[in-house]
Amino acid sequence: MPYLFDHLDLIKQALRQSPFGLITDVDGTISPTAPTPAQAEVSPLCRQYLSILSEKLALVAAISGRPALEAKNMLQIDKMVYIGNHGLERWSEGHTELVDEAEEYPKVIKAAVKELSRLLAIDGISIEDKGATATIHYRLCPEPELAKEKIHAALKDLAQARHLRIMEGKMAVNLLPPVSINKGTTVLALIRDYQLRGGIYLGDEYTDIDAFRALHSTAGNLAFQGFAIGVTSPEMPEGLVSEADFSLNGVADVERFLQWLSRNAPESG
Ligand SMILES: [Mg+2]
Repeated sequence: MPYLFDHLDLIKQALRQSPFGLITDVDGTISPTAPTPAQAEVSPLCRQYLSILSEKLALVAAISGRPALEAKNMLQIDKMVYIGNHGLERWSEGHTELVDEAEEYPKVIKAAVKELSRLLAIDGISIEDKGATATIHYRLCPEPELAKEKIHAALKDLAQARHLRIMEGKMAVNLLPPVSINKGTTVLALIRDYQLRGGIYLGDEYTDIDAFRALHSTAGNLAFQGFAIGVTSPEMPEGLVSEADFSLNGVADVERFLQWLSRNAPESG
């Protein structure tokens, strides 16, 4: 995967497309990975440049597995759009909306979390109820691989019985409604809603690969030019490298890139 800083000329060219959008993942992309989700903070430099970009571009959106409001509270930039729970909810202009298909699921998730708390009373495991989805974290377990096996064993029957979907995360396993909405379908919806002609997507994990593929699925469509940028780390998933157009090394590189973008983006691009 070519290094983005060797190909800024291509991004510069794409920036001529208007309206232009920037869509970024949060954890591991603009926020360094922390021991627990609650300890994670958005890099102040990323926040500063995103704020400038939100004034210049037609759309600056953050997309996260966290609840939309939580992503919003981490960034605190009013002009941005915040997509939470892997695409199931959107915060914009002061309120959060859950997609219709997921409306019934917060109570199913709540019951599943209750059952999992009983099944997974294991040192280091924490279970996060995020409303429309849940995440089981095992980063702090003394034996993460063993913990992961136990999580999957516990989820096997439970997910099936409650018609929930299981998805791997970074040292975490996600439990989601059986709705075919992901970061990819969400990116396509944003391109449509904001009538974007150009765009950039930044992400670092499994769920971001759906977004990379969605950007590429528009390739035959001359009306949109987009680049998928994979943020590499020691924990990056297989497929991130092969599916992205360009790479950046960690949050520090994303800071540098957003600085470049904030200087090179035309007004109301
Ligand atoms: Mg991430």
